[in-house]
Amino acid sequence: MNSVPSKIALNFRGIEIFWRIADAFQSGGRPDEELWERLFKTPGYAALTRSEFAPQNLRKAISIALDPKRAYEARSSADTRLGAFVEHFREAADRRLEIEAVVDELKNRSLRLGDTILNLVEEYLPPEIPREDIEVALVFFELDARGYEWIVVDGLLAAEMGELLHLLIAHEYHHRCRDAVLCYDKKKVDEQDTDIMWVLNQIHAEGIADHIDKPRWFYGENPVQAYSNLVEQYRTEVKEAGETLALIDEVIETGCLAGEEHDEMGKSIREILPLGGHPIGYFMSNIISKANLSVEMIESVGNPFEFIRLYNKASALQGTTALSDSTMDLLSALEKRYC
Ligand SMILES: [Zn+2]
Repeated sequence: MNSVPSKIALNFRGIEIFWRIADAFQSGGRPDEELWERLFKTPGYAALTRSEFAPQNLRKAISIALDPKRAYEARSSADTRLGAFVEHFREAADRRLEIEAVVDELKNRSLRLGDTILNLVEEYLPPEIPREDIEVALVFFELDARGYEWIVVDGLLAAEMGELLHLLIAHEYHHRCRDAVLCYDKKKVDEQDTDIMWVLNQIHAEGIADHIDKPRWFYGENPVQAYSNLVEQYRTEVKEAGETLALIDEVIETGCLAGEEHDEMGKSIREILPLGGHPIGYFMSNIISKANLSVEMIESVGNPFEFIRLYNKASALQGTTALSDSTMDLLSALEKRYC
């Protein structure tokens, strides 16, 4: 057990500056250039714009959403990608009082939140691996969360999650600690193996982390209305995961026989893989748990290849279909190359 407790810090700067931008538009003016700069320098927006989102697009959507003079543009942008962001920022502004109350409440319980999160991940991490300090930035972007160097959680999603928010953060926190002991360096994977390795990593990482949040969220009471379809889809995919896995196995088996390149196989597998690998991973980790191999699974939390071997061992015990020798040979070769 760790003697020094790790800490979790919540950061609300992005939301605070967002309200100041909203105030500037509401009073009939425009926000100062400096305010925009400060917005995109907050840790949450800085992380988002470094990786996936262009600051000028976010700025445009925020402006259209918050400027009363641009209400027409807001209406006419509906059903476009930009429009989805506009709608999200408008909703955030409309629900400001509710979100401010959530932020106050989170500030009050942020110390206890850290303990709750550490307790939640405890079962899914071996005792010897370090618990990293984490910083969580709350900002508005879309109804989602990301785990970069900072964990970024959308402010509206946080408000909707309510009492379940710690589950979402704990899931991302698990990724952070697990990635720190991953047996290979993602940056050193050759281009032709990128897809296969991505799929493998997703199935493993999400398959374990989903145990932290999904039982109480996707299989419990889902408070996020907009996720209803996703929850349904996830559950269906978990039920069908055995067949999907067999299909993936077949792609590899026939691919190996035909002497296909790894990138071709990887591309086909990525196309089959539903929901970023979450449901298949969750299915596999459940089979492993049912076969009483959880301890081994957690001990090897940094090794996705071992996860697949444990699944095959477990499926023999559980009577589910194991992966073929071709797939296992391919994985062995990749493990030798990268681990
Ligand atoms: Zn995840």
